[in-house]
Amino acid sequence: MTQHVLVTGGAGYIGAHACKALARAGFTPLAFDNLSTGWAEAVKFGPLFQGDLMDPAALDAAFAQYKPIAVLHFAALSLVGDSMSDPGRYWRVNVNGSLNLVEAAVRAGCLNFVFSSTCATYGDQDGVLLNEDTPQYPINAYGASKKAIEEIVKNFGPAHGLNHVIFRYFNVAGADPEAEVGEQHRPETHLIPLMLDAIDGRRPALTIFGQDYPTPDGTCVRDYVHVSDLADAHVKGLQWLLAGRGNRAFNLGTGHGFSVRQVVDASRAVTNREVPMTLGARRAGDAAALVSGSARAREELGWRPERSTLPLMIGDALAWSRKPGFSR
Ligand code: UDP
Repeated sequence: MTQHVLVTGGAGYIGAHACKALARAGFTPLAFDNLSTGWAEAVKFGPLFQGDLMDPAALDAAFAQYKPIAVLHFAALSLVGDSMSDPGRYWRVNVNGSLNLVEAAVRAGCLNFVFSSTCATYGDQDGVLLNEDTPQYPINAYGASKKAIEEIVKNFGPAHGLNHVIFRYFNVAGADPEAEVGEQHRPETHLIPLMLDAIDGRRPALTIFGQDYPTPDGTCVRDYVHVSDLADAHVKGLQWLLAGRGNRAFNLGTGHGFSVRQVVDASRAVTNREVPMTLGARRAGDAAALVSGSARAREELGWRPERSTLPLMIGDALAWSRKPGFSR
C-alpha cells in the first residue's frame, strides 16, 4: 500500500506539479483543494478531496480518511498586487487557513509539514543575494502573511512536535516538460505566461511594470525557477523530514537574476517572434531585485535546478500554452 501525502492546493499550478513528482517517487498525493483557483482536471496523480482550509471539519475528514504521512501546504492567495489592495483577505485566508491546517495535522498526529513560503518574506534589500539567514522584512501583505505562517509552523514544533521544512520560492515558471500539467491562472498575472499570450495574440501587449528601478536596465530583477525543479525539491524536503533530519528553511532559486527586459529578450529568442509591449507604471509592492543565495538547498538537499534556464522555462510554458484545447 502506498503512503498518502496531503497536498493542499494540489489542483493548482505548483501543487499539481508536486503531485506528479510525488507519484513518481512512489507516494500517493491526496490533493486537498477548494477549486477556487485550481482545476479538477489538473488532479491526475492521486485522489481529489474538495475542501476548504477555512473548514476544520473538512480537514479532519481528509486526515481521517487517508491517514497521510505528511502535508505539503501550497494552497494560498499569492498575488502581490492583490495583497496590497485587499490585505485583509490575504491575512484571513492565508493565515487563518494555515492555522486550521496545522491544528488539524496535529490533531491527526501527522507531524511532517512542508510549507510553501516565498522570497517576498525578505522584502526589498538593495539587490543583495538573499540567503536563508537574511532578516525578513516583507513589503507587501502577501509576504507578510507568509512570514506569519512560517512563525506558526515554527511555534508548533516545541509545543506539538510538528517537524517542518520551509521552502522560500523565488519566481516559479515553466510547465511540466511532458505538458501533462501547466500554468493556467484566471486571470493570469505572471510575466512569462502574459508574454506568451501577447506573442500568440491572446492579449494585445505585455505591460512592463516600471523602468526606473535601481537595476542595470531599470526593470525588476527576479530569480526564475522551473516548476518541475521546484516540485523535485518538495520530494527531497519530504524525504528529509521522513529521515528525521529536523527543521530547516531552504531558498529555492538559482542564484541568477534576470530583468523583465532580459526575459522579454529570451522569449523573443525562443519563439522567434517580437513581444508586443507597452511601458507602464510600477506595480505596488514590487521589490527591485529578488535573487536567491541557493547554496543550502544544493548542498544539504542535493537539489539541482537543471531545467531552470530561461530558454527551457519559456519553451516548456510555450508548449503547454500551445497544447490543443488550451485557453486562458
Ligand atoms: N511584470 C511585468 N508585467 C506584467 C507582469 C509582471 O512587468 O504584466 C513584472 C513584475 O513587476 C515583476 C516580474 O515581472 O517584476 C515578475 O512578476 P510576476 O507577477 O510574474 O511574479 P512575482 O514577482 O509577483 O512573484
